[in-house]
Amino acid sequence: MSTIGEKYTSISPAEFFYKYREVAGFANPVKAFYQTIKELIDNALDATDMHGVLPDVKISIERADEVQEFYKITVEDNGIGLPPDVVPYAFGRVLFSSKYSMKQSRGMYGLGVKMVVLYAQMTTGRPIEVTTSRENYRMIYYFKLRIDINKNEPVIIERGAWRKTRDWHGTIVSVTIEGDWNRAKQRILEYLHRTSIITPYANITLITPENEIVHYPRVTTVLPRPPRETKPHPHGIDLEMLKMLLNNNGDKTLEEILVSSFQSIGSSTAKVLLSTAGIDPSKKPRELAEEEIQKLFNTIKNYDKYRPPLSSALSPLGREVIEAGLKRIFEPEFLYAVSRSPRSYEGHPFIVEAALSYGGKTPMSPQDQPVVLRYANRVPLIYDESTDVITQVVKEDINWDHYMTSFPAQLAILVHICSTKIPFRGVGKESIADIPEIRREIRLAIMEAARELKHYLARKAREKEALRRVETIAKYIPEVARSLLIILEDESNEYAKKTLTHKLVTLVSKRSGVPVNVVDSIVKSVEIGA
Ligand code: ADP
Ligand code: MG
Repeated sequence: MSTIGEKYTSISPAEFFYKYREVAGFANPVKAFYQTIKELIDNALDATDMHGVLPDVKISIERADEVQEFYKITVEDNGIGLPPDVVPYAFGRVLFSSKYSMKQSRGMYGLGVKMVVLYAQMTTGRPIEVTTSRENYRMIYYFKLRIDINKNEPVIIERGAWRKTRDWHGTIVSVTIEGDWNRAKQRILEYLHRTSIITPYANITLITPENEIVHYPRVTTVLPRPPRETKPHPHGIDLEMLKMLLNNNGDKTLEEILVSSFQSIGSSTAKVLLSTAGIDPSKKPRELAEEEIQKLFNTIKNYDKYRPPLSSALSPLGREVIEAGLKRIFEPEFLYAVSRSPRSYEGHPFIVEAALSYGGKTPMSPQDQPVVLRYANRVPLIYDESTDVITQVVKEDINWDHYMTSFPAQLAILVHICSTKIPFRGVGKESIADIPEIRREIRLAIMEAARELKHYLARKAREKEALRRVETIAKYIPEVARSLLIILEDESNEYAKKTLTHKLVTLVSKRSGVPVNVVDSIVKSVEIGA
C-alpha cells in the first residue's frame, strides 16, 4: 500500500503560526518589525479609545545588543488594563481574545500579540514582560512569560504584584525581537503618521533607537462613541453558527432561542419563521432532524422583513474627529468630512466616512489620482493599495474633471470603513474586497465631499477673477478722483479728495464683491507708485 511509512500528527495553533508566520505578517525582519509595532499599538488603542479613555500611548524602541540587531520595544498605554488571571492567556495562548464578539475593534483574530511573542522567542529567545492594572485595583501586576509552542500554553517565568502608589491604570508591554530597523523605520513612521491622522484625541510619542522623538499631541478631547456589543443579525449567519446556537441552548425552546440569539427577531417573527419552516415552536433543539435544521436555516436566510442590522456595534470616527485629525497634520485651506448613515451587506452593518483635504500642507498627489488614505476599523491600510475597492472607486467611479480637479494636486482623500465584518481580500488585512453595497457608499461619500470642494474651488476662481478685474479698475480711482476735483476746481481740497476716493473704493468693492480693505490697498499701492 502507498501509505506505508506515512506519519500522521497534528500541531497546535501556536505551532501552526510559528511555522507559517508569513500569513500573519512576520515573513522577514523588516515586516516583522513593522507588524510588531502595529500589533502593540492597535492593542493599546483598543484598550483606550474603544472604552471611552483618551489615549496616552508611549512607544520606545531601543537597541538591545551591541553586535546583533536586537531591539527592545516597549509600548505603554493608559487603557483599561487586564485582570491578572487573564494576562497569561491573553499574551501566551494563540487564539485567545476578548474581541471575538459582535463589536467593532482593531484586533479580531486573537493572534496579534502572540505572534509578537513567538517571533521574539524564535529570534532573541527573550520572554515578553507585561505590567498592568485596572481602574479600581489596589495592585499592579507584573508577568514575564513565554509560550509553550507544542501545547499552546503560557509558561510564566516570573510574576509579581505591588501596591499602587498612584492612581494608574493601563498596560506596559515589553518585547525584544531581532529586526531590520533601518529598513523598517520608514514603514513604521508611516503607520504612526497615518494612525495619528484619525486619532487627534490621542497623545502618541515614539522614541527611536537614534533617540529621536516623534510626538503627536492631543488636539481635541472629542472621542468617537464606543461600540456596544450586539447579537448577530439573522442575515449574517451560516448553517454552522445556527447549529452551534442550537447546541449551546439545549434546554430552551426553539422560539426562545431565536428571540434571545438574534437581533430583530421578536416572538411574533420567531413564530412566523418556525411556521414557515413547518416546525413546532415548542420543540427543543435536540428534537430537530437534520433536514429540519436545514429548512429553518433557509427560512431564516430568505425572510426579508427584518429590520436592517443595528449599527450600535460600530464606532465611526465622526466628522469632527476626522476634520480635527486632518487639520492637525495638513493644515489645509479646504477641508470637508462626511459620515454616512449605516448600511449593511449580507447582514453585517457598516458605515463609510470620507474626507477631502486640499491645499495647505496636504501632500502633492501622483499624476493621475489624489493621495488616498485608507482605513478599516480605525486601522490604516498601507499596502496592496491597487486591489482595494477604495482606490478603485477613486480611480474609476469619480469623474474628477467634473469637480474642477486635475492632477497632480495637493489633494488627499481619506476613507474609513467600519463594520463588524470588514471584507478583507486576504489574511494580510491590507485591502478591502469589492462588495457592491460598500462600493456604492464609498462613491456617494466621496462625491458629497467632492461637491463641496467644487463649490470651494468655483468660489475661489470667481474671487480670483473679480480681483483681477478690480485690479485693473482700481488703478484709475486716484486719477478719476483727481480729474473730478479739477473739473470742480477744488483740486487742493484734501478732504474732498479723500471722501471721493473712499466713495469710489466702496462702490467698486460693492460691485465686485472684493472686500473694501483689499480695494483700498490696491488704490494705495497705485498712489504710492504714481
Ligand atoms: P486581539 O487583539 O485580536 O484580540 P491579541 O493577541 O493582540 O488579539 O490580544 C489578545 C487580548 O489581550 C486582547 O483581546 C485583549 O483583551 C488583551 N490585550 C492585549 N493588549 C492589551 C492592552 N494593551 N490593554 C488591555 N488588554 C490587552
Ligand atoms: Mg491585537
